[in-house]
Parts: sequence; structure tokens; C-alpha cells
Amino acid sequence: MRTSHRPHQTDFTLAVHGGAGTILRSKMNTEREAAYHAALRRALEAGRHVLADGGTAIDAVTTAVMTLEDEPLFNAGRGAVFTSAGTQEMDAAIMDGRDHAAGAVAGICGPRNPILAARAVMEKSEHVFLIGQNALNFCRANEVAFEETSYFFTDDRWDALQETLALRRGGVQDQDESSKHGTVGAVARDCHGHLAAATSTGGMTGKLPGRVGDSPVIGAGTWADDETCAISATGHGEIFIRYAACHEIASRLRHAGQGLDEAANGVVIDLLAPVGGSGGIIAVDKYGAFSLPFNCAGMYRGVVIGDGVLRTAIYDEPLVDHR
Ligand code: ASP
Repeated sequence: MRTSHRPHQTDFTLAVHGGAGTILRSKMNTEREAAYHAALRRALEAGRHVLADGGTAIDAVTTAVMTLEDEPLFNAGRGAVFTSAGTQEMDAAIMDGRDHAAGAVAGICGPRNPILAARAVMEKSEHVFLIGQNALNFCRANEVAFEETSYFFTDDRWDALQETLALRRGGVQDQDESSKHGTVGAVARDCHGHLAAATSTGGMTGKLPGRVGDSPVIGAGTWADDETCAISATGHGEIFIRYAACHEIASRLRHAGQGLDEAANGVVIDLLAPVGGSGGIIAVDKYGAFSLPFNCAGMYRGVVIGDGVLRTAIYDEPLVDHR
């Protein structure tokens, strides 16, 4: 779905996504659909509180992503997908548009909110990216809250892994986007004019242990720069990495003079889709305009601007206002 939102010059803008791996319309029912809209609204509301009080974009995206990670419906934190070995390995990244400060973690299971692990790397280390056991050691040393492995487990994700493995044994690749992947993310422009982005994911169902997707790779799945825009991606991570998807959008703003919609649609629909990069992005620019394009069946998504109205959508449909 190509999007074209007219820029709003508002106090603040917050956009969230719960992944492009949406449940097929044929498998969706009214109750489930309402649960997804409600979960997106909770994340928007949490971030809106921060921004309406004059808080920063970096705090707003952290809070919104934490809310989505806590929600088992989405593939991040609690409810993350399983690797082919039946483990959960989570990736997350956060970036502050003020100074390009960034933090990322990959291949971790333990921190209740992987986005807080990424934020700890950004704020409490000299590094940008920590992985695996040593990232966990760093999190423990920096008092990031942990949960038992059982906290992250959900029957739905476990069953999805069993189905994926059974299909693979029969030589077939799973085509159902909702059982394959998903991710959560948030982007914001605060009332001080600063931008931030955050992304968190369990990756893709049945991935090889050790595989890292685009979400924690700065410039691929996450990007924020006050001069251009903040972006969080969801989709086929390998392709998003190979095309530096988020950075490509920002580059088109910076170097080609394109507007946000033109750049975002150009990358998601014209560049990534033809090469198998199924998925989408959420973006907000320095003026507070937002763009939410995707090239697949749907993307759980939502936006709130200065008027305080929470707007959410799932499929190729206009955002629904919740007043
Ligand atoms: N981009 C994520 C990854 O490749 C998955 C997703 O967004 O659906 O790990």
C-alpha cells in the first residue's frame, strides 16, 4: 500500500508498528482484530503521554516499544518467535536523532524488554552493538530487568515453529507471513523538534541460531537523524540489510531533495518489493510528517499527533480514528 499523508506541522508525532507479518484476512476474526487495535492503541497512548508532557522522542519510542514487547501478540520480547533449535533470540536497536547516539543488541534472551538492553548499550557503554552472552552479562551489570525463559514462551509461536519445521521436512517453505515473522517499532518527533527510532524483534520463525536480522542493524532496520527522519522497519531482514533500507530513505531526503512519502514509497515499493524485500516501514520527518508504506498484505500500525487522536490500521485500509 503506497501511502500519501500530507505533512502536519504538529507539536509531536509518534508512529508505531507491530510488524508486517499480519494474520491473513481469511484467518482474522473480529475479536482478534480488536485485540491488535487495542494493543497498538496502548503503545500509542503510552508514548503520547511522554510527548504531550514535553518529554523526549527517545523516551517516547522506548516506552511505546516496551508496551509492544510486553504484548504477547507481537514478535518481540514476550511472544518472540523460535529459532530452528527451539530457542528464542531477540534483537533490538534504538537511535537518537539529536546526535546519532545508538545502541543495539542481538541474539539475546533474558532481558524483559530488549529495547532497554539496547538503550543501556547506548547510554552506559562506549559501544553501539553487543551480542549474545556478553550482551547479557553487560545487561546484568547494568541492572536491566530479566525474566525467566518461560516468560517469553507462547503456545502460538511454538506451534508456528512446529508447522514451519514440518513444512520444511516436506520441502516446502512456510508462506504465512504471520507465522514467519513480525517485529515492533516506534518513531517519534518530539515538541522540541528532535527525532528518535526504536525497533525490537524475535526475528523470523525457524531462523538459524545466531542469525541476526535488520532490526538491530543501524541504517538497515533502524535509523534516526534530526536533519532528515526517523525510521523503523519490519520485513524480510536480509533484504533490508542488503539495501540499507532505512538509511536509503534518509539519503533520498538528504541528497535527492525528496519528500518523506516519495522516499519511503520509493524504497519500500519500488526498490525492495521487486527484490523479495517483503515488509514495510514507519517514518516521521523533521516537520512531523509521517509515512507508513508496506508492500505486503498488511502491517499493524498506528499514529498519534498533537490532536491526541489515536489512529490504527492493519490491512490496506485507511487509519481508523479512536476518539
Ligand atoms: N525484520 C525482522 C527480521 O528480519 C522480521 C520482521 O520484521 O518481520 O528479523
